Amino acid sequence: MGKIEMEAGKPVVPDRVSIPYIEGDGVGAEITPVAQAVIDAAVKKCYGGTRAIEWLEVLAGEKSFNAVGTWLPDATLDAFRYYLVGIKGPLTTPVGGGMRSLNVALRQELDLYVCLRPVRWYKGVVSPVKEPQKVDMHIFRENTEDIYAGIEWAAGTPEARKFYDFLAGEMGVTKVRFPETSAFGVKPVSQEGCERLVRSAIEYAVDRRLPSVTLVHKGNIMKFTEGGFKNWGYALAEREFFDPTFTMNRYEAIKKEQGAAAAREALATAEAAGRVIVKDVIADAFLQNTLLIPEEYSVIATLNLNGDYISDQLAAMVGGIGIAPGANINYKTGHAVFEATHGTAPDIAGQNVVNPSSLLLSGAMMLDYLGWAEAAQAIEAALERTFGQHRATNDLARFMENGETLSTTAFGEAVIKNL
Ligand code: NAD
Repeated sequence: MGKIEMEAGKPVVPDRVSIPYIEGDGVGAEITPVAQAVIDAAVKKCYGGTRAIEWLEVLAGEKSFNAVGTWLPDATLDAFRYYLVGIKGPLTTPVGGGMRSLNVALRQELDLYVCLRPVRWYKGVVSPVKEPQKVDMHIFRENTEDIYAGIEWAAGTPEARKFYDFLAGEMGVTKVRFPETSAFGVKPVSQEGCERLVRSAIEYAVDRRLPSVTLVHKGNIMKFTEGGFKNWGYALAEREFFDPTFTMNRYEAIKKEQGAAAAREALATAEAAGRVIVKDVIADAFLQNTLLIPEEYSVIATLNLNGDYISDQLAAMVGGIGIAPGANINYKTGHAVFEATHGTAPDIAGQNVVNPSSLLLSGAMMLDYLGWAEAAQAIEAALERTFGQHRATNDLARFMENGETLSTTAFGEAVIKNL
């Protein structure tokens, strides 16, 4: 079995490839074997015996703690580092004891700066919105910075006091309303961090001939962090992607110089030529618009916290977290960890009722990333066929008209039959 290498910025994948995986806690033990069986069946169906995955189990989470006494062994990080691409089930975040989230640790250790969440609707899945077929978005969430960096101090600690003294004494800050009882957090947002995220989003849109990239931000309030994201994003599009894109900055410039009609014409010409339109929108307006005019959005580029909220809302619009896939990617080094986006679902663990689709679709994203697009498409089509037959796990089947509830394993078998 072979390992993936990066050559000229692209992963080069051997026909027999080793993929490390973390089974995951809670429902992980149920969804992981089902997802692997469907992925293996799709690869076999599409490529006969010429391509195959060798699954290498690595430890993390509770299973790891029980086996070797640590939550995230160095050997696991080393495996993801060495093999470049891996997949994981959900992990318990140990509460208290200063232990940080294992997911965050993985992202930071491998510098997985993009959290990619494609969101589309599958025929047959019941949605709370009237026209879910209009939802087809690809969220690029910045994964390493923002208020998520974990730089914060609890109220009443000497650190919070010291930080406040610095703000008040050296920076002349007078706006802290209740200094004695304030906790503080720091929101680092860098030019490099924003640029690499926006660059990945634009490259993705250009490669896939998608119509637009929208920079979602709160730059009206946080002028230098969120506003910086917007400004650096537009500047990068102009500088590195002048031909394949048309930015709304350019639109505004034409409008100023030549009038509104000329700007509208330039935009229409760019759209007709298949250029990627780069635009921006304030985060709160965006959340409203996703419900009112979802068809206006394709690729979404946004900072970490906005991306967190947006991912869950969009997932809910197409059927919930049980079928929302995700990946954490560093497009420069090639490192990528594909993952179920839901948690360990302790309330239903061990009952063979959990929906394996999130991990399964993450597996399809992984196949696509490897360049095994036929197998990825086969999985998506088989899943859609299964939902179209009104067959699903309980989380989705209970809302379907004449829905037939299948167990996790029976659902996996139904998808394999539909390949
Ligand atoms: P959760 O996603 O585990 O569960 C929320 C609700 O959704 C539960 O009712 C659950 O039964 C249901 N659900 C989740 N996935 C489902 C699926 N595939 N099929 C059917 N129903 C599903 O969130 P939580 O309860 O807030 O968190 C539980 C644990 O998971 C915590 O320790 C948390 O830290 C961890 N967590 C891990 C990840 C990750 O590893 N990426 C993400 C979120 C939460």
